[in-house]
Amino acid sequence: MEFRDLKRQYQVLKPEIDTAVEKVMTNGNFINGEQVQELEKQLAEYVGVKHCVTCANGTDALTLAMMAWQLGKGDAVFVPDFTFFSSGEIVSFAGATPVFVDTDVDTYNLSVESLEYQIKKVISDGKLIPKAIVAVDLFGQPADYCEIKKIAEKYDLYILEDAAQGFGGEIQGRRTCSFGDIATTSFFPAKPLGCYGDGGAVFTNDDYIADLIKSLRVHGKGTMKYDNVRVGVNSRLDTLQAAILHVKLQAFEKYELDAVNQVATLYSEELQGVVKQPIVKQGFYSSWAQYTIQLKDEEERNKVKNALSENGIPSMIYYPKPMHKQLAFENEDYEYVDDDYKNTNFLCKRVLALPMHPYMNDVDVKKVAEVIKLTVE
Ligand SMILES: *Cc1c(COP(=O)(O)O)cnc(C)c1O
Repeated sequence: MEFRDLKRQYQVLKPEIDTAVEKVMTNGNFINGEQVQELEKQLAEYVGVKHCVTCANGTDALTLAMMAWQLGKGDAVFVPDFTFFSSGEIVSFAGATPVFVDTDVDTYNLSVESLEYQIKKVISDGKLIPKAIVAVDLFGQPADYCEIKKIAEKYDLYILEDAAQGFGGEIQGRRTCSFGDIATTSFFPAKPLGCYGDGGAVFTNDDYIADLIKSLRVHGKGTMKYDNVRVGVNSRLDTLQAAILHVKLQAFEKYELDAVNQVATLYSEELQGVVKQPIVKQGFYSSWAQYTIQLKDEEERNKVKNALSENGIPSMIYYPKPMHKQLAFENEDYEYVDDDYKNTNFLCKRVLALPMHPYMNDVDVKKVAEVIKLTVE
């Protein structure tokens, strides 16, 4: 069994993908081909925002946002304690300080109470200035933007939506990548919408920010490539990846999103009362980057992971270590108090992500559930 079956997906989409790739190879327009602009238009339309600017990966997309807002030394940026390293790394990389926020144990997204607690703490410390919130749509479910927006307005903070895992998710019909002042996603192969290498995108309704990011991604270009008005980076999505994503976006819209939701529903039926399941909030829709269960303790998790493995079933621990405990953040100008992160500490010892992808059949889902049932009971 595959954890995320990209080979099966390729077999299904092969005729269209091969044609799209061959066209790029024949035309030789590897950088800045028309497929890139076409994809940006389609993605912006799908998400429902004015601008999509593609780039080389999801981490660069986040970094471009930090650069556009000119965040740096002395600025506090609030980041979930339970996420992929990138969400906090980009803050330190920009010279600003990541202040971690505890987790909601049901949705795995940031806890709004902990967010406000950390903001107040930074204000009363008086050393850093609160500037932005990185809200992550973890495992496919959008963060609670209704509540996050209230706090952002109250404390005058930007919202940077990290939808690397959340592309395709919704809150009451409104799609992810449209909630942040700037939103980003990743097209890393295993993400909900993945390409065949690295890729990413930035989304915004702000014309000025969109222009600025278009300049920053190509060495701070001005009116043309050899007129450089600011220091930027080189971060482009290449034409091949854009051509592949064009085909994959169609499958994603047409049936893949439905398919992962069906897999999730079947898992939830099969595992009802057996383990703690991921909870999707009322009115929210997940694109199921991961289906993550919680076991009783670390020992039970090891038992289940081993039993799955003995049955040829892969599983993953996302994430084994809270951000506030990462060595890389040891020298930040902020003292992370372990007690502030009870939920993340709890989750890191108990979570287990199960195989999840749009091409997974019912027999396999039931097999995974069966092994878990036999192991925990
Ligand atoms: C994957 C991921 C990123 C980074 O995306 P890359 O394309 O790998 O750079 C950022 N944030 C989160 C939450 C991710 O899962």
